[in-house]
Amino acid sequence: MKQSLEHTITREGIGAERAIELWTDVIEPACLTADHPRFLAFMPNSPSIYAAAFDGVVGTASIYAGAWLEGAGAICAENQVIRWIADLAGFPASAGGTFMSGGTSGNLSALVAARHRALSSDSGVTRGNAKVCIGEGTHSSVRYLLESVMGVEVVVVPADDRGRLTGKLLRATLDSMGSEARAGVFAIVATAGSTNAGTVDDLQGIADVAEEGRLWLHVDGAYGGAGLLATEKRDLYRGIDRADSLIIDPHKWLFGPYDSCAIVYRDGAQGRAAHTQNASYLDPLADAEEMNPSDLGMHLTRRARGIPLWFSLAAHGVGAYQAAVEQTLRTARQGAELIRANPDLNLLVEPDLSVLLFERRGWTASDYTSLSERLLNDQVAFVTPTQHAGKPCYRLAILNPKTTIGDIEAILELMH
Ligand SMILES: *Cc1c(COP(=O)(O)O)cnc(C)c1O
Repeated sequence: MKQSLEHTITREGIGAERAIELWTDVIEPACLTADHPRFLAFMPNSPSIYAAAFDGVVGTASIYAGAWLEGAGAICAENQVIRWIADLAGFPASAGGTFMSGGTSGNLSALVAARHRALSSDSGVTRGNAKVCIGEGTHSSVRYLLESVMGVEVVVVPADDRGRLTGKLLRATLDSMGSEARAGVFAIVATAGSTNAGTVDDLQGIADVAEEGRLWLHVDGAYGGAGLLATEKRDLYRGIDRADSLIIDPHKWLFGPYDSCAIVYRDGAQGRAAHTQNASYLDPLADAEEMNPSDLGMHLTRRARGIPLWFSLAAHGVGAYQAAVEQTLRTARQGAELIRANPDLNLLVEPDLSVLLFERRGWTASDYTSLSERLLNDQVAFVTPTQHAGKPCYRLAILNPKTTIGDIEAILELMH
């Protein structure tokens, strides 16, 4: 691969035909197909054909979607989707947001807005004492962003027996802190769909504690936020309407192409206050009536990456999205039943959503790794091991409605 690509950047150019040949023969074959129904590792991607096709339109239309002045039409369409998400979450009319590159940049934008609000008030929070509470199942990006990017201290709240953050445990942690340390806490990150186990935190209980302590509640629904569409799961999300900010990645469970994260603030003005850049060359944008997407997150220039979802959602209708999410949940439920019925296997966490975490009795880490290698080499499936409570195990993330119970069965059969 390296040899084929090594001398492709030349003064004269190699020509489009040769470059396309390289794409077809060398580049693409060396990348996994994340929308294959048996890509079950990490977070699969399964864009609808409409969404994937419209990503090409966005790429070729040369629309600057950072500000209304240049990108009004695209932004107005994206905002229909932002409003749809705000309604799913039960956010008020003041809600506002935009599409960013991924959950990591969305989480950062939310946390920066949270800190901005705390520093601009008489909360007692300073740059020196600032702290954020997270759970044991909080995504790795949050800890990294707080500690390495923002320089904010992390307080990890112990998890309940299913790995979730609860209001009770959060309150106990806050109560156990000295009043001086406690004064610096400005936000709580709750997870609606943890990446490793797919569990949803106790949002209602957490929202109670956040409200009492006047703390910003950020809900990371990068993966699981899409579960709001499933009627049978609505109860799991009770309390989400009380969040100050929410993220959902369309490139995970909302059938959008890479790369895309919807960030929605309950009060869009809080996002704008934190993220507006000031420069004289940007002054023509400053007094826009509408909020410019560039002011709502950690970016300036941006592609209209919400448009593929807008097009697909508008064309297919919300019902098709709900059916697709419910289909993956059904497959996950059937997969959990197969695991329960198999005496060699042990389901480690009762799944809230569409991630299955289980072990093969008697297996060590290397057994999982070698089966993973075999599955990939034989082009059967892409599954990677993980850990739960310090023990190696398998994890299947079922986000693609084309994944069938037969696909899951084929993998489980190889674990005898
Ligand atoms: C995937 C994920 C992220 C990170 O999102 P990226 O789009 O990969 O940056 C954050 N939080 C959760 C819960 C996730 O599942």
